[in-house]
Amino acid sequence: MNYLDANATTPVDPAVLDAMLPFLREHFANPSASYAGGRVAHRAVEKARGQVAALLGAETDEVIFTSGGTESINAVHASVRALWPEKRDLVITGTEHPAVIESAKRWQAQDGQVKHAPVHPDGRVDLDALRELVRPGSTALISIMWANNETGVIAPMDEIVEIAHAAGALMHTDAVQAAGKIPVNVKRTPVDFLSLSGHKMHAPKGIGALYVSQRVRFAPLLVGGGQEKERRSGTENVPGIVGLGKAAELCQEHFKDGTAERIRGMRDRFEGLIREVAQVHGSTEHRLHTTSSICLPEIDTAGMLILLDRQGICVSAGSACHTGALHPSHVLEAMGVSARDAACTLRFSFHRFNTLADAETAAKAVIETAHKLRAERGDDSMVSFN
Ligand code: PLP
Repeated sequence: MNYLDANATTPVDPAVLDAMLPFLREHFANPSASYAGGRVAHRAVEKARGQVAALLGAETDEVIFTSGGTESINAVHASVRALWPEKRDLVITGTEHPAVIESAKRWQAQDGQVKHAPVHPDGRVDLDALRELVRPGSTALISIMWANNETGVIAPMDEIVEIAHAAGALMHTDAVQAAGKIPVNVKRTPVDFLSLSGHKMHAPKGIGALYVSQRVRFAPLLVGGGQEKERRSGTENVPGIVGLGKAAELCQEHFKDGTAERIRGMRDRFEGLIREVAQVHGSTEHRLHTTSSICLPEIDTAGMLILLDRQGICVSAGSACHTGALHPSHVLEAMGVSARDAACTLRFSFHRFNTLADAETAAKAVIETAHKLRAERGDDSMVSFN
């Protein structure tokens, strides 16, 4: 299998699995239990909290474990809406993940107002327009993703945080695609809330974290047994938490060992080869080194996906959350990409277990398949981009 869909999910790192296994086998006790087994589990949870906090440059007690990115995002929106009811505005962009978009609809349904900041054609938010939208006294929260799941475009987060705080608004970032891939440090970039997800960084699915700054109040989404210092009830997913902690530690190690450059090398090689038949969406300079969203003009994406799948090449049409229903991506639409080009878009996302050969094999397959599909239609001429 040539797995190039890391933005959908990543393979669990063997070292992460090794760290988790004892907590599925012998150390299965409930971390709230007072006997020795419970204390072992509790210590493991706290160690993992420290590992995640270290990845983010946060204080340990600023990290809350959740079931993933979606829960973390929903929890922030619900908390801010509940605690600051007099401030009605939530500001997002048109390129957010559905977890933010759908949660924003709830905000709206709770007598709130949702405002959309436009993005430039390169996918980055229009900061002047954002400044206009954010108003002291009425904007409660800006919720803008750090890196986009479909295009990999990286937001100007320092500037966005400044805009939020200058207007007395709180700042949440969906860092699900950024955390562990690029340096994300809440001391340098003082967001108030940050969401991340284990399965995008080589930990398992169903585990995530929410950073809540000590500066801000937080009302829990889930109430019950009072775990996580009353901020997220429910018996802790100890193996998942241990896995996330280990994954966070590994990501930090990989920041130092040239992994990003290696992945960038394969991604750039891929893009260099496919330029013959495709065009890359989104900013070149401000884009994750892992991600290529490519437009293959006039190519039937569904057909291309099937033919690549037959060769063991796993990629997505737009966002994984949309597959099954191949409607044009709202992200590309917000960037001003035509519906026709958006419909011809595939996303390739690389991870640390890929090799240069994976990238080259995939590029070769894309080129050959594009020619084949065009030839079948009796049109193998180069099509101009629009
Ligand atoms: N935000 C972004 C940018 C994502 O890519 C995803 C997952 O696709 C999510 C949020 C949701 O995260 P989870 O799958 O952990 O709920």
